[in-house]
This record gives sequence, C-alpha cells and structure tokens, in this order.
Amino acid sequence: DLRVRFAPSPTGYLHIGGARTALFNYLLARQCGGTFVLRIEDTDVERSTQESVDAILQAMDWLGLDYDEGPYYQSGRFDLYRSKIEQLLREGKAYKCYCSSEELDAKREAALASGGKPQYDGTCRDLSQERPDQPYVVRFRSQRDGVTAFDDAIKGHICFSNAELDDMIIQRSDGTPTYNFVVVVDDAEMGMTLVIRGDDHVNNTPRQIQIYQALGYAVPQFAHVPMILGADKKRLSKRHGATSVMAYRELGFLPEALVNYLVRLGWSHGDEEIFSKDELIAKFGIAQVGRSASVFNPDKLLWLNEHYIKTGDSQRLGALLREYLTAQGIDSHAGPDAAAVVRTLQDRSRTLVEMAEKAAFYYLPEPLYDEAAQKKFLTAAQRPLLQALREALAVCSFDATGIEGAFQQVVQQAGVKFGQLGQPARVALSGSTSAPGIQEVVQVLGRERCLQRLDQVLQ
Ligand code: GLU
Repeated sequence: DLRVRFAPSPTGYLHIGGARTALFNYLLARQCGGTFVLRIEDTDVERSTQESVDAILQAMDWLGLDYDEGPYYQSGRFDLYRSKIEQLLREGKAYKCYCSSEELDAKREAALASGGKPQYDGTCRDLSQERPDQPYVVRFRSQRDGVTAFDDAIKGHICFSNAELDDMIIQRSDGTPTYNFVVVVDDAEMGMTLVIRGDDHVNNTPRQIQIYQALGYAVPQFAHVPMILGADKKRLSKRHGATSVMAYRELGFLPEALVNYLVRLGWSHGDEEIFSKDELIAKFGIAQVGRSASVFNPDKLLWLNEHYIKTGDSQRLGALLREYLTAQGIDSHAGPDAAAVVRTLQDRSRTLVEMAEKAAFYYLPEPLYDEAAQKKFLTAAQRPLLQALREALAVCSFDATGIEGAFQQVVQQAGVKFGQLGQPARVALSGSTSAPGIQEVVQVLGRERCLQRLDQVLQ
C-alpha cells in the first residue's frame, strides 16, 4: 500500500514549491487509497517556530490537502533518533568526531585554496580511544568505494560515486540529530513507500540511502520534483512576486485555482488545462511529471482564477466576497444579498479582491461618484429622464420583467434610445459607467436603495 508524506520544516510560510510537493503526494495517496502523512521537521530548534507550523497547517487546510496521519513532530521523537545513533555507534557504523570547528574551517579553506572539494578528511574516523571530556559530533561512516545509485521515478537512474560523499554529521555537538539522519529514521519507521520531494534533495539521497542500509531498513522509491523558476529562469523567489500560499488567498485567489495551477507546474495531461480536484485524483501520475524545471506564470494563474470565479457557486463566492469587503473596510451586512451581487460580477472579475472593489458601490451608503462620469451623465438635461425612471421604479414590480418594463416605459415616453437612459442611471446608482448591466444592478440594489440614490442625485 502506498504511504507518502509531506515533511515541511517550519521555518517560514508554506510556499508555492512546498504546496506543489504536498499536492503531488496528496493526489497519489487519494488515487490509490494510500495514506498521506504530514510530518513537521522541527529538529532545527533555533529556526523552527510554532507560528510557522500554524501557517503551514492553515495553508494546507485552505488548499484542501487533508492528511490521514499526523502532524507528527520530529521534536517529539528525539529518543528514537538517539537510540538509532547509539546503535550505529555500537556497530561501528558511526563515530565520534572531536575536531573543533576552527580546525574544520581551516581545513576547508586549505582545500578550497588548493582547488579541491572541501570534504571532511576523516581525522577521527579511526581513533582508538574515546575522549570523555571533549565535545564531539557523531559522524556517519560512509562507504569509500563504489557507487550509490537509485532509480528516481521522475529523473530516472541517478548514480553517485561514494568517493564524493564524506562522513556527514548525524548528531550535532548539542546532541540534536541532523536532517539527513532523522528523515531516514522517520521515513523508514513510518513505513513510507515513496518519497516525493523537491529536487534540491537529490544530492542528499545517496547519503540517506547509505543510512537506510546501515540501519537495515528497506529503501523507499524516490521521486524528485524539478524546481520552480521565475520568468527570468532564476529560482522562484520574492523578487518574482508572492511565493507564499496564503499571500495568494489575500490577493483574491481561489484555492481550486491555485491547486489547478500548481499541478500543471511540472505535470501535464495532453492539452487539458482545467482540472477539478476529483479529475486530478483520477488522472495525476508521477510518470507525466517532466524532468525539467517549470516557469511560474502569474498570468496563467490569473486566467485559471478568472475561470473558477466565473463558474463558481454564487452562494459560496458570496460568503468569500464578504470577507474581502470587510478587508477593504466595507460593511456588507446591511447591503444586498452577496450571492446576488456575485452573479452580477462573476463575468468581470479576475480575483475576489477585484470583485470586492467592484462590489463596493452596492454596500457603501452612497456610491463614490466618478467625476468625469458625473459631469457627462448627471446634467440638467438628464434630470427629467432620471425623474421619470424614479417614478416608474417606485411602482413597478421589482423583478426582472417589472424592471425591464419600467425602463421601456421611460425610454418610449421620452422618445430616447436605451443608452440615453441607461448610462445616466448607471452613474446615478453605481457612481461610474463601468458597472454591470443596469437592470441587474437595479434589481440587486433593491427598490429602496435605488430610489434613495436617485433622489440624492435629483436633489
Ligand atoms: N524538511 C525537508 C524540507 O523541507 C524535507 C525534505 C524531504 O522531504 O525529505 O526540505
């Protein structure tokens, strides 16, 4: 049975790359009834924060990436790691190293100066005696000869010469274990069958494989996902725009748009672009993840978001819209039904932030009048028309047909074209000429607000 995990280090927000890794794991687990585990890798006590754990959990929740087990915390598993390190020490597969950091720094600089690779030189590898009072780290005794190879599910066959791998530290001088060690103990003890992660970990994998072998664990399959680049082909960073998942929420993106976008960063299925989560669960496969890096394209994300806004359920979007209105300082409680407002704006908003900006006029006590529009459309010449509209709207039945009838009646009696009434009415009721269809606006605003706004401009 497939067991996969997402293993973030809580040293910051959940960023786009991490979210994509989590998503790939999630989709595969759901596809084959496997188990998706969340493990918080907080062995680096100095850099790990509860705030970051909360931010990661919140982002997973927002994206709908629910896990079956966890979150497990590595900080709660130090006893296990210690016992495994003791086991390796006992078996001679690890050793205590007493080299001071000054000595190591000096050797590293000397190696660099002579054009060599800075590797640990093995000074303490074969010490005959322990030095009881001296601080030490524990190093893994890695293999000197031969190669360590694996078949990556994305990258294919990968082979490292063991001579390139020095004896890495598995326990720091403060007694805490290091990432490359605990990740192996946990992935093995938690029964992971497949490890999907960013390809920044490819170079760690041969070291980890040697630890699996030293501890007598089965080695899982690996799938290293290529990284995400900005448009300039440099690693995606803040310079390219928002990189945290929750920043996209603030910018007015829907989680399904981000999920759809993220999965396509590296994975493809013919020419298809739009995938619901259920479709992704059915169609996703590691075999169709490309080997090369993908470029983050904000316009495409925006296009997907626009699609999901256009096709989204108006009740749900209405509830979300209220949050964005609140964030913009607009009280939406007294105003029109948010779902009805959404239906007038779904076709013309790329983000929920944009939609909230466009929806503001429905909720503000009075619209913010665009000056140019006001000058052009709310002149003395247009007053009689607006007055006639006011009277018609006061008595018509307030449904689509009734409102349509009221507009027709005014237009016919005055002998003008529809636009000659429509534009002044739109400006009077919404403050600008760019609002949705005027009759929809009238209906959603409701009779009371319409009359009030018309009276206001007719004063
Ligand atoms: N904590 C590691 C990271 O965030 C996890 C790497 C892995 O999945 O093995 O990069």
